[in-house]
Amino acid sequence: MAKKKAKEKAPVKVNQIIEMEFTDLSHNGEGIGKYEGYTLFVSGVLPRERAKVKVTKVNKNYGFGRLIEILRKSPDRIEPRCSIYKQCGGCQLQHLSYQGQLEQKRKIVKDNLERIGKLTNVIIHPTLGMKNPWRYRNKSQVPFAERERGLIAGFYAKGTHDVIDMKECIIQQEKSDVMVQTVRRIASELGIPAYNEIEHRGILRHVVSRVAVNTGELMLILVTNGKDFLNKDKLVERIVKEIPNLTSLVQNINEERTNVILGFKSITLWGRDVIYDTIGNVKFAISPRSFYQVNPEQTKVLYEKALEYAELTGNENVIDAYCGIGTISLFLAQKAKHVYGVEIVPEAIKDAWNNARINGIKNVTFEVGAAEKVIPEWVEQGIKADVVVVDPPRKGCDEELLQTIIKLRPKRMIYVSCNPSTLARDLRVLEDGGFKTVEVQPVDMFPQTMHVETVCLLTSKIKGFE
Ligand code: SAH
Repeated sequence: MAKKKAKEKAPVKVNQIIEMEFTDLSHNGEGIGKYEGYTLFVSGVLPRERAKVKVTKVNKNYGFGRLIEILRKSPDRIEPRCSIYKQCGGCQLQHLSYQGQLEQKRKIVKDNLERIGKLTNVIIHPTLGMKNPWRYRNKSQVPFAERERGLIAGFYAKGTHDVIDMKECIIQQEKSDVMVQTVRRIASELGIPAYNEIEHRGILRHVVSRVAVNTGELMLILVTNGKDFLNKDKLVERIVKEIPNLTSLVQNINEERTNVILGFKSITLWGRDVIYDTIGNVKFAISPRSFYQVNPEQTKVLYEKALEYAELTGNENVIDAYCGIGTISLFLAQKAKHVYGVEIVPEAIKDAWNNARINGIKNVTFEVGAAEKVIPEWVEQGIKADVVVVDPPRKGCDEELLQTIIKLRPKRMIYVSCNPSTLARDLRVLEDGGFKTVEVQPVDMFPQTMHVETVCLLTSKIKGFE
C-alpha cells in the first residue's frame, strides 16, 4: 500500500519524455539530476548539462532514464577515444575531460567524508593525476568465448556476462593486447574450446596478462577449467615461439562455478614462476595470484606520499597492514627502524620475504594471516608501532583492527584506500577513538574510470591540547 502511494507521488511515468538538468555523477558515472524534486539517474550525461531523457524505470525514491539528446553541453564534455566505450562497462568517464575527472574524484572523496564520516574541516588536496592518462594498466584480465568462426577475447557488455570481441583496450599496455590476441589466434587454430559458464564446460576461461613496465618482463596466465586438455603442449610451444619476449607462462586452474577469475592452483608451464618489476629503487617479484598495483607510474606517486606522511627518521617501528607483496613495507623500511607487514594471501607473503631478500632489506618481518587477528597478537607480544599503515581491499578495515589501532595509539597513521565510502566509515571510527584526520590526498590510479585512490594522514590527538 505504502509503495503504491509513493509511486503515485513520482512526477514521471515509464516511457515519458522529459527535459531536465543534471548536477552530479553517481558512483557508476551516471548523471544525477532532479525532475520536479524526483531524482533520476541517466548514463552518458554530465553535471551542468541539460538533456532530453526517456524515463525507463520508476522506483519509490528515484528512477532511471535513457539519454535522447543533450540540449546544453558541459564545457568539460569531450569525445570518448575508445570505439567500444559505450558497450563496455570498463571505463565510465571517457566523455569527461581529464581535468574534469580529477575534480570529480576529489569531490567524491569530499562528499563521502562529509556524508558518511561527518568530517567537514579536513584538508583535501586536488587529485594528483597523470600526464598521459592512457595505456597505464599493467594487468589485463580478458574473458574468452566461442563463436562459429572461432574464439573471441573481449569484455563483458555492460551489466551482463556476454563477451564482446575486443582487439584493443586503450587503458591497457599495448603488449597486453598483443599477448591476448596471440593466444586467441593460436587457441582458435588448435581448436581449444572456450569455457561456457552457463553449461560449465569448455576449457579457456580468461587470459590474464601482466607487464612489468619498468623491466619489460611479461607474464601470461591461462585460466582453464581443468588441468589437461587436447593440444595443451602445442599451445605452450606456439605461445612461447610467437611471443618472443615472454618471461613466464602460467596455467591457473579454476574449476568452480564462480565469477572469481583465478583459481587457487597455478602451474608454471614455461619460464619463471614470477616476473620482476621496480618501483623507485625497490625491486619486486610478482606471482600470478599476488596483488600488485595496476598503475605503476601512479603507484610511485602514492607510495611517495605515504612515505612523506610517515615522516620517518630511522628510529620508528612501522606496521603495514594488508601489505600484499610488501611493496609499501619495503618502500618505508629504507627509512624506518623496523617494518612489520601482515597479509592474508600466503603466496604474497612468500613474495614479500623474497622481495626483502633480493633488495638486501633486513629490517622487515612478514606474517601470513588476517590483519585483525595478527596485529592484536603482535601487540600482546609487546610490539609497538610509531606509524601504522593500512591499505585494505574495497570493504575497508575490520572493526577489530581499528579498535586494536586505537589501543596501540601510533603517533601517525596512514590510511590508503581504494573506496571512499569505507574510508569515510573507518575514519569516523578512528576519529571517535582519538585520531585526527590531518590531510587527505586523492591520487588518480585509474584514469577514465570512476575509481578513486586516496591516501590520508592521521595523528593521535594529544591529550591536553584538545
Ligand atoms: N599494500 C599492498 C596491497 C594492498 S591490496 C600494495 O600496495 O600493493 C589489499 C591486500 O589486502 C591484498 O593483498 C589482500 O590479499 C589483502 N587482504 C585482504 N583481506 C585481508 C585481511 N583481513 N588481512 C590481511 N590482508 C588482507
